[in-house]
This record gives sequence, C-alpha cells and structure tokens, in this order.
Amino acid sequence: MSIHQIAVNNIYMRNQMIKHKRIVWWHCFFSCLLFFLFLPSVVYSYDSSPSDFKKFISALEQQSSLYGWKDIKQGEISWEYYRTTKNKHPLIFTTFGNNTGNCVLFFGGVHGDELPTVYLMFKLAHYVKNNPAMFKDKCIVIAPLLNPDGFLAASPTRVNASGVDLNRNFPTKDWKAQAIREWIAKGKIKRYYPGAKPASEQETLFQMALIKRFKPQKILSVHSPLNFFDYDGPSSDLNSFEQWMEKICKETNHPLKKIGYYPGSLGNYAGHEHNIFTLTLELPSSDTKRGGEYFEKFQPSILKFIDLPVVGSPPHVKIVNNEK
Ligand SMILES: [Zn+2]
Repeated sequence: MSIHQIAVNNIYMRNQMIKHKRIVWWHCFFSCLLFFLFLPSVVYSYDSSPSDFKKFISALEQQSSLYGWKDIKQGEISWEYYRTTKNKHPLIFTTFGNNTGNCVLFFGGVHGDELPTVYLMFKLAHYVKNNPAMFKDKCIVIAPLLNPDGFLAASPTRVNASGVDLNRNFPTKDWKAQAIREWIAKGKIKRYYPGAKPASEQETLFQMALIKRFKPQKILSVHSPLNFFDYDGPSSDLNSFEQWMEKICKETNHPLKKIGYYPGSLGNYAGHEHNIFTLTLELPSSDTKRGGEYFEKFQPSILKFIDLPVVGSPPHVKIVNNEK
C-alpha cells in the first residue's frame, strides 16, 4: 500500500467516524425527543386507572362544581378501588399515614342524597393530604362516597341502584329474623328496604372488606340531616366513649342522641357486633351550599376523634388518657 493509499484510507476512515458520530448524535437527539414527547403520556397512563375510572373522577368533579364545591378536586387524591357498583362506578378509598395499626375509618355518602356528607369526606381527604406531618404516625382510611350510584343519579337517592338502603344491609345476627319483618311492619317504605338478603350489595361488601383489612379501632360515618351525634361501641368501654362524646358534643354545640341500632345497620355490625368505636355524625341539613360551613364546624371534633387514644384490639379495646 502506497503512502497515498494510506492517506486516502485514513481520510475515508475519519469521514466514516464523523458520519458515525453524526448518526449516533441524531439517534440520541431523536430518541431524547421521542422520550420527552411521550413522557407525559407514559407517566399519565402509568399513574391513572382505566378510562372508566377517569370518567368517574371527571363526573365527580363536574358534580362538585355544580354544587359549588370549588375547593375539592377528586383527581388530586390517589384512590384505590377493587369493586364497582351495579352502575359500574368504582368504590374508592384512600389511606394516609405510616401506621398500620390503630386505624380510623371514615365513611361518607352511604345515602346518596345526603350530599354534604360527600363534600365533608373529600374535604377531609384534601386536608389530611395537605398536612402530612400532622398525620404521619396515623392510619387514616377515607371512603368518601359509599353510594356513588345514588349520588350520581339524575335525582340523588338514599338507596343504591338496586333500591337497597345500605345502612340496613349488613349481615348482623338479627338480620334474618328482623330486617324484612321490621321493614314490613313500618309500612314497607322503599327508602329503608334492607335488601333481599344480608350483605347482598357490593357497597356493603366493600365496607366489610375495609373493616376486615384495616381492623379499625374507630369508625366515623357521616349522614344528614338529622342533626346529632350517635355512637355504638364495645359494651365493655361504652361509658368512657360516652363521656368523651359528651365533651365533644358540648364543644361542638351539637346534640348527642342515642338512637340505638337497626338490623343491618353499621352501628349494629361494627359497633355492637365487632366492638369498634363507631360514631355517627348527622349533619344539620342536606344542603350542598353548607358543606364548607359544616367542615369548619366539625373539623376540630374529627381531629380529636383521630387522636382519641384506644388501646387493644376488638373486642378488648379501651379508651385511654380520656383527658386529651
Ligand atoms: Zn343517612
């Protein structure tokens, strides 16, 4: 090979290297471009659930803005769901805090026409999310809308899409003997229909699953518009709970009314039979415009309920340090 040929070869090789570098550069450039172009959609589809879930969240956001609930955005909370209702609406819940024990469970929208209860629970989810330091040692589970079919109906209903009152459908020991019989005796009012059999509804099974999974020591279920606090709990320590309740009622200026429990009600199932301190908050009205006012009013007692120290696991639970 002559010197000239070597020089030509070297030039050829150098040109090839430059070309190769260019190809690598352009390859990197296009790869990066494609990566950044598609990154948002990749993250989006990774973080969000199927399209039905997105539709559900946007239906909730639409309904919320219709009711004037401008400070809650359902899409900003990360939800879990494993069950859907008859109308294919997901039964959502969210959890906060690092603790796996001493859980407190919050239920809203059991009756679909008790509208501000739904606001209160979504607002609570935002509040807890925005104050992580306050709740990092807790275990808080919020299921803000237990009856989405009733809530999203053209005209919201107490009952679910199968016409069942979800607060009469729990498989309590007295259900078979009394639920249907009492319903007939009281005039077969459709709003209170307990279902054809106990735990026949997905919404009931959902609540039971949450209780089974999180083994809560405390439950707060929000209703409206009867305007009182009611409670059920382990008979061994119901007195301490009552004393604590009396204090809370005075502070909130909200009356305590012990109404007992019904066949198939949450108070019966969770409070009476499963020995969980179960508090019912009946808001003073079902007026959507008063959601914000109710959150202000009841937020201190909700926070105190979260902090209410309970030791042991059901049925041997006890409230300690009752002065708190
Ligand atoms: Zn209710």
